[in-house]
Amino acid sequence: MVKAIVGANWGDEGKGKMTDMLAQDADIVIRFQGGANAGHTIVNKYGKFALHTLPSGVFSEKVTNIIGNGVALNIPILFKEIQDITGKGVPMPKLLISDRTQMVMPYHIDFDTYEEARLAGKSFGSTKSGIAPFYSDKYAKIGFQVNELFGDEKALKEKIAGVCQIKNVLLKNLYGKDEIDEQKLFDTLMEYKKMIEPYVCDTSLYLWNAIKEGKNILLEGQLGSLKDPDHGIYPMVTSSSTLAAYGAIGAGIPPYEIKQIVTVCKAYSSAVGAGAFVSEIFGDEADELRRRGGDGGEYGATTGRPRRMGWFDCVASKYGCRIQGTTDVAFTVLDVLGYLDEIPVCVGYDIDGKVTTEFPVTGLLEKAKPVLEVLPGWKCDIRGIKNYADLPENCRNYIEFIEKRIGFPITMISNGPSRDDIIYR
Ligand code: GDP
Repeated sequence: MVKAIVGANWGDEGKGKMTDMLAQDADIVIRFQGGANAGHTIVNKYGKFALHTLPSGVFSEKVTNIIGNGVALNIPILFKEIQDITGKGVPMPKLLISDRTQMVMPYHIDFDTYEEARLAGKSFGSTKSGIAPFYSDKYAKIGFQVNELFGDEKALKEKIAGVCQIKNVLLKNLYGKDEIDEQKLFDTLMEYKKMIEPYVCDTSLYLWNAIKEGKNILLEGQLGSLKDPDHGIYPMVTSSSTLAAYGAIGAGIPPYEIKQIVTVCKAYSSAVGAGAFVSEIFGDEADELRRRGGDGGEYGATTGRPRRMGWFDCVASKYGCRIQGTTDVAFTVLDVLGYLDEIPVCVGYDIDGKVTTEFPVTGLLEKAKPVLEVLPGWKCDIRGIKNYADLPENCRNYIEFIEKRIGFPITMISNGPSRDDIIYR
């Protein structure tokens, strides 16, 4: 059975914790898109970890972790992460890398950095991990799949020369930087080859067989619906699809095998990078929620930068869940709201005087003003509660109010960062 775990919002919803928890019953966990530009924070018996590239199943010894063909693979970062977790006592994880996965090249990171600097005030707020240049090259058909490292060296050198011809024009004329040294690049790729050799295989065949054997498989998404390049807040989006549907492509499995889509939805909103954020709050109100948020504050797992904060947005979350094809909502980080006397919730968007509950295209989104409804808080700590009925009444009312407006069943509630801080409904 294949299950996808994806985000309903702008990312940072707590997908890492949910995957780590659900991985306890899984045989295989797959990353199917994105790269080291975002991170999943996981707290378990080994400590606290920020994973950027490794699937969140690496903490369960029986799980096979797969880097799917849809991922932007930064090989040095992958190895740094492996060293980081094994150095903290986690057994060496079982890892497979699709032979069709493409590599983030050193020049992708340079281009990302130079382009953000060139755009200055109009930048996208990129994490400068090379993700946008990587996916641009993939679809321009000048990317490098890992299998090319194991093929004919002459062909690889010729391809490097061809790509450098294009890149060097930009480096020299647009950015005023040094050209790429072809031999140095080739040598770097040969280093990468040695590092990944034991892990590379045809993972789609492996998964085909695993599905036939009835294995439990998790697809782990990065970021959330609103960062999807097609259905999100374009152009302030990421460069690969964040939707469960793309899991089939980014892992190489039949789409009809994805039977459950667990969409992770945070009990308040946060976002990183630029773009419209209708329920955003500012000043002391935002600072307090940021400080209390998540596990140790709402600061980027990759960059450490403060996240933008907001109240729960029913319009964006309803859309985010719909576009994912949600079967179950996991409602996370609810414990954080226990300090508030009253909790505003965004229930509609006012666009030019008309109120809508449907998420609009970017041009209209920028004009939208939040319509807020205020719910009473529960003013206590809900961590440690295991049964839904034991939650304070106002807390249950908050959950049920939101469930009604988003229109998808909240079947799991996360009331703390650890694996067992979970309430099933
Ligand atoms: P992801 O990218 O979706 O995995 O999200 P992040 O890891 O960036 O952010 C989620 C943050 O919230 C992490 O620091 C988690 O440890 C933390 N977290 C996850 N679930 C809960 C929860 O239910 N309560 C609290 N307090 N923190 C949580």
